Amino acid sequence: MSKLPRLFAPKRRGDAGAPAGSPVSGRAGVGSWRLLAWAPLILALFLWGLSGGLLTDGAEAVRRDGAEVVLARFAALQNHYLVALAAFTLLGVALAGLSARRWARDRSRPAWSLDGLEQRLFEHSPGAVVVTDAFDRILAVNNAYTRMTGYPSEEVVGHDIAFNHAGRQDESFYVAMRESLARRGRWVGEFWLRNKAGEAFADKVTRMRLNGPRNELLGYLTLSMDLLSSDESKRLMLWQAHHDTLTKLPNRNLFEERLTRVLLRAQEPGFAGALLSIDLDRFKIVNDSAGPSHGDQVLMETAYRLAMSVDESHTVARLGGDHFVVLMTEIADFGEVERLGRRILTEIGKPFRLEGRELFISASVGVALLPQDGEESGELLQKADAARIQVKEQGGNNLAFFEPDMNTRAERRLELESALRRAADNGELMLYFQPVVDVKRGTVTSAEALLRWDHPELGMVSPGEFIPVAEDMGLIVDIGRWVVNECHRQLQAWRLAGIEDLRISLNVSPFQLRREADADALLALIRELGDPGLILELTESALMENSDGVHRFLSDVRALGNMVALDDFGTGFSSLGYLRNFEFDVLKVDKTFIDELASTRDYGLVASIVSMGRILGMRVVAEGVETAEQVKRLKQIGCDYVQGYYFSKPLPADAFYDFLTDKQLRDVG
Ligand code: C2E
Ligand code: MG
Ligand code: MG
Repeated sequence: MSKLPRLFAPKRRGDAGAPAGSPVSGRAGVGSWRLLAWAPLILALFLWGLSGGLLTDGAEAVRRDGAEVVLARFAALQNHYLVALAAFTLLGVALAGLSARRWARDRSRPAWSLDGLEQRLFEHSPGAVVVTDAFDRILAVNNAYTRMTGYPSEEVVGHDIAFNHAGRQDESFYVAMRESLARRGRWVGEFWLRNKAGEAFADKVTRMRLNGPRNELLGYLTLSMDLLSSDESKRLMLWQAHHDTLTKLPNRNLFEERLTRVLLRAQEPGFAGALLSIDLDRFKIVNDSAGPSHGDQVLMETAYRLAMSVDESHTVARLGGDHFVVLMTEIADFGEVERLGRRILTEIGKPFRLEGRELFISASVGVALLPQDGEESGELLQKADAARIQVKEQGGNNLAFFEPDMNTRAERRLELESALRRAADNGELMLYFQPVVDVKRGTVTSAEALLRWDHPELGMVSPGEFIPVAEDMGLIVDIGRWVVNECHRQLQAWRLAGIEDLRISLNVSPFQLRREADADALLALIRELGDPGLILELTESALMENSDGVHRFLSDVRALGNMVALDDFGTGFSSLGYLRNFEFDVLKVDKTFIDELASTRDYGLVASIVSMGRILGMRVVAEGVETAEQVKRLKQIGCDYVQGYYFSKPLPADAFYDFLTDKQLRDVG
């Protein structure tokens, strides 16, 4: 808060910048009174000049000696004339002296100022106070004004009071205000202002004219006395306290109030209710890639779809971010809950249209039942969240009812989320390498790099567990870049150690390619490293989501001289179209087929995949090979590349190096 004297004091008479006739201004009146004080002296001088013919005989007087002229005039004067002249002169000198003293005192004193108690009252007044000069330029604002508008004093002083008006009031409004201030010295009305964040709001204010001791205009005082006085404002404030401004749904406050009320009834016999905790899958990525305003549109549309899916007796609320809840009361049977949950999934699964583009989003829904899952609102919410987290862990786009063991799993997930943020920085992530063996030649052709997280308390966390978490949190993009760099560094180290023609194949998550900027950055990194030993593995899910972008990415990668592999083939849609449209160098047949190689049907299936891959010019790798029998069958059907525990589990870099140099490959034959 600025000190008042600086603000109240500077406008003194004659200060620079105050235009003529200005009220600093209103003091033009004071000036004329002072002029009057000098009038007798002027009159005396006039008489004096008249008496001696100074005005008529000027030319002659100049020629004479000065003292002679004065004496000659005195001699010529009549007595009564002399007395009048002396009286006027004395009166004039006295009045002029008085006026000069007053002028000097006025000059040295601020026009008006506050100190002590007044200053504190001004600063700490609960209502906003603005002091302006006669031109409505802000001289001072108090703390409440800053709280209300977000503008600190130093940012507003010197500005016109209307600098943050929202532009909703026209010229006639200001004319009427000025008229009222001029006539009645007061105006009460509503200003539409904008706060520093740019949001418009109405503020009911009282404006008063500030007069000086001689009724001259010093400036104006603007008081925002009661924001709460109008019923409309009261209602607005109340509504805002209970609703989310973006989606207009009830917010956490209102939701918890309602839940608490419902819980009182939940103990009555026969009561049945449910709490659904809903969030959008990977919303962070949508928000990051489509931009926050599109993210907001998705949230508003989600709110609308939720509201349209439920009955009027249910409450839909937004608890924050992309987290919504539905409170169902008085349900006839729990099948109703399941049906509503599925309806919500279907509604959210419909495409979102953003500026002509279609966006597909799914949701995870967790359900806690009333009264059996809890008697208290926090407990119920936590259980519904645990069920939702479980759904999310399993890929989202589903619904689950709370079960007791979900609590520990949800806790672990939350624990993983916070620990994962630190993991990369703390060097807790590392790569293991699993050999891919050319069974015909008995050599290791490449290594698959597989992430490991050595958590200080939890021990080794499997990628199957933490990669979905990293994807959900958007951390996979940074982790993925680290993997690429680390694979290159490792290849260089092995090359220096004499292993020349080894390649490393690394896994790329679809989430690393979702945003064009991320895909471009990954491509730029690969270009910068210029290491043809790096192979990029992608699963079909990456191709399905954004086929044009991924297609471009893959052909750019290949143009740089790097190979690309289709991972886990057979687990997704296994569409032949993908094999035709995307040019892969390597096809990795998923472990589930290899497990069943003993059955004639799967044997035939793998045989046809292998021959199709070979016809299309791809190397076919069998994943998850664990037995000699499987190796034998794979060789029979012409699958030359094999990866699996049969040869080696994924190994730390040193152990992998030993494995390579040991040359004691298991019998491949
Ligand atoms: P993936 O790419 O299909 O990797 C093969 C998985 O099969 C690895 O599991 C490997 O340890 C396992 N495996 C290999 N041979 C056998 C076998 O003979 N028997 C059995 N039971 N399993 C075998 P891991 O290391 O747990 O990795 C799981 C998945 O995590 C990977 O599947 C991959 O999708 C993902 N992943 C691992 N590292 C990364 C990474 O750096 N980035 C990304 N985006 N994903 C990764
Ligand atoms: Mg892989
Ligand atoms: Mg795989």
